[in-house]
Amino acid sequence: MVEKKKVCVVGAGVSGLAAAHAFRQRGHEVHIVERGGDLGGVWEPSRSYPEVQTQSPKDLYRYTSMPMPDDYPEWPKGTQVHAYLRTYAERNGLVPLIRYGTKVVSMQRRQGARGWSVELAAGGNVASEDFDFVAVCTGNFSEKRELVHPGQDDFTAAGGQVLHSSEYTDSATVKGKRVVVLGFSKSATDIAVNAVHSGASGVTIVYLEPVWRIPYFIGGLINFKRILYVRAQEVMFPNWDQPLLARLAHSVAKPFVWANWRALESLLSLQLKLKKTGLRPTKPIESTINCSVPIVTPGFFDMVADGRIKAIQGTIASYEPGTVILSGGERVAADMALLAVGWKSGVPFLPEEYRRKLVEPDGQYRLYRVIANPDLPDMGFVGFNSSFCTVLSAELAGNWLVRYADGMLGRQPTRQEMNDNIDVMLHWKRNERPAAGVYGGLCVAPYHFKHFDELLADIGARKRRRNALAENFTPPNADAYAGYLASAPDYRAA
Ligand SMILES: Cc1cc2nc3c(=O)[nH]c(=O)nc-3n(C[C@H](O)[C@H](O)[C@H](O)COP(=O)(O)OP(=O)(O)OC[C@H]3O[C@@H](n4cnc5c(N)ncnc54)[C@H](O)[C@@H]3O)c2cc1C
Repeated sequence: MVEKKKVCVVGAGVSGLAAAHAFRQRGHEVHIVERGGDLGGVWEPSRSYPEVQTQSPKDLYRYTSMPMPDDYPEWPKGTQVHAYLRTYAERNGLVPLIRYGTKVVSMQRRQGARGWSVELAAGGNVASEDFDFVAVCTGNFSEKRELVHPGQDDFTAAGGQVLHSSEYTDSATVKGKRVVVLGFSKSATDIAVNAVHSGASGVTIVYLEPVWRIPYFIGGLINFKRILYVRAQEVMFPNWDQPLLARLAHSVAKPFVWANWRALESLLSLQLKLKKTGLRPTKPIESTINCSVPIVTPGFFDMVADGRIKAIQGTIASYEPGTVILSGGERVAADMALLAVGWKSGVPFLPEEYRRKLVEPDGQYRLYRVIANPDLPDMGFVGFNSSFCTVLSAELAGNWLVRYADGMLGRQPTRQEMNDNIDVMLHWKRNERPAAGVYGGLCVAPYHFKHFDELLADIGARKRRRNALAENFTPPNADAYAGYLASAPDYRAA
């Protein structure tokens, strides 16, 4: 019999909601603590820049039990994703479980009992509360990276503004201003394009090096999900536990695979005017595909080509009043610097001795299946397996985690098995596929299907594929995954 647990879910974003639902469905007592004033995490409107929209198409950014509304566009806007998440939380009875304005500040192992004593800060008070299990769902985009350059105080004292990308929530603020955007992620190019649309008097984007980006429609015609989200494409990447036969097949197919990637690069160069703009990356596209491969912001490359956005390679070196000085010596007249420099990953509330067990000195996470660490008992991580379809990744991780916590996985791993597997994965990331080490190794793209197959096999799903042939050429189908999850043995904690 599985004992009912009191579970603390930290965070009420996509992953926290998925984890809370998974634990609740199995009969556990769930408490969600969210430091913000609303649910949704990165999709919470006060945290999103104007015009933000998903990179994933809507049928690939949804929970298995609930499609996005029919009238949503293929790539929903941030406010629509937020409304979708709210509806999901309401329909599944999660809203009353959320304690807003409550931040986990630290935690300790409980004395004489399993679980954790969690320090919760709310309304100026800090109180300790005991939980049997903690699901950490704090995302990779919670702690801003702070970047301060010499002269910033003088720049702001003279009326200039320096904002992190997440603080750019009102496009009216750039009207008539000279704007410098630092970074080259999706947020950076989204903000640069939005600044042009919003009447900035000049927009400069400063980037370290060009990266391959994927347009919403490859060749202007084919939705990228039909090419980049399919098993047939995924198997072109060598993975971590290929049997001898598969390695042999890879060697034989190497020239064809190589030609395939070069053809894609040529197509993208042509479509996105990469030569004309000087923004053609030098690294082969296949060596860079991971969660940091951005989707093209519509209009971005056209604006660079026609001069509405000036792109300069380098970084910010310093500021002077009214001027941003770049590492190559260029002086850019500016009223505003928008720093799209990303986020720090980490779990700051974990005690240091456990943080050392979780994160290696080079920043790589020790997480089995990107969910659990054998040396961090009564704890798991949901949404750390980020992907190109993170709602589904988080939901599968949530379902895996509750079974792991209950000892109910079909393939419940031993501590030794977990550590051995973690070591194999770390070796592979460090030596064979460095691109898999981005964000501390917390990204399963482009190996979605392989990762999902592993989770479903562990969970004990009896059904894991529909039509093996057709599935090679179609993106992950959330409805089908609902069926796979439902095919695993049922149980409830009591
Ligand atoms: C602009 C943008 C666009 C994106 N588009 C896509 C996309 O198209 N497809 C895709 O797959 N992914 C996309 N992502 C990635 C996105 O982060 C994930 O899809 C997903 O939303 C992450 O959800 P999460 O719940 O794991 O994390 P978050 O959304 O970051 O939520 C974490 C929550 O934890 C809370 N929290 C953190 N620390 C504490 C604490 N100590 N105590 C209490 N609460 C805490 C935070 O306040 C937050 O609400 C995008 C990200 C951004 C920023």
